[in-house]
Amino acid sequence: MKYQIIPVTAFQQNCTLLWCETSNEAAFVDPGGEAQKLIQAVAERGVNLTKILLTHGHLDHVGAADALAKHFDIPIYGPHKEDLFWLEGLPAQSKMFGMEECSSFMPTEWLNDGDVVKVGNEFFQVLHCPGHTPGHIVFFCKSAELALVGDVLFKGSVGRSDFPKGDHQQLMESIKNKLFPLGDEVKFIPGHGPMSTIGYERQTNPFVGEQYPD
Ligand SMILES: [Zn+2]
Ligand SMILES: [Zn+2]
Repeated sequence: MKYQIIPVTAFQQNCTLLWCETSNEAAFVDPGGEAQKLIQAVAERGVNLTKILLTHGHLDHVGAADALAKHFDIPIYGPHKEDLFWLEGLPAQSKMFGMEECSSFMPTEWLNDGDVVKVGNEFFQVLHCPGHTPGHIVFFCKSAELALVGDVLFKGSVGRSDFPKGDHQQLMESIKNKLFPLGDEVKFIPGHGPMSTIGYERQTNPFVGEQYPD
């Protein structure tokens, strides 16, 4: 599997274009905005975009999802249904962040813990990781040892939990019980900022790492 991180919006949100090299099938994870730029990236790569995957319902992660789904005539998978209220509130989110109005939309399919999403010959396991938002999910590709963790975990930090239905304790449990067991060597792409590995965060992250017991 190959991937390219394309930061979008004023929030520099990491949209990821990933594709299976054998089938050329591709997916966007969290296309947060700038649909034209993302359409261009697909054309430049010459990949066959077949689906859109969403980690959670925040505007900066889903802003271009509906436009891309319509443009390419492809389905949207995720997040978990607990994030329904965030997707319903997209017009209000756009106003709150002073961004171009984004209409509400529904995914083709909500995802649950344990679901598997296929992109060509690559498989992504779905992990429900609430705390930042109640319906936040993470996509994990075991063969590539790569996780797309949205706003759950960052290099040296963790997601905010001060939004409606956010829960810091739940976020800590998601990281410790769902992400850390994936293995130290697993690389992850966070929703913002540079990549890191599970092992590096397990050891050094000041919010959840083992050097800083709570
Ligand atoms: Zn978020
Ligand atoms: Zn974000």
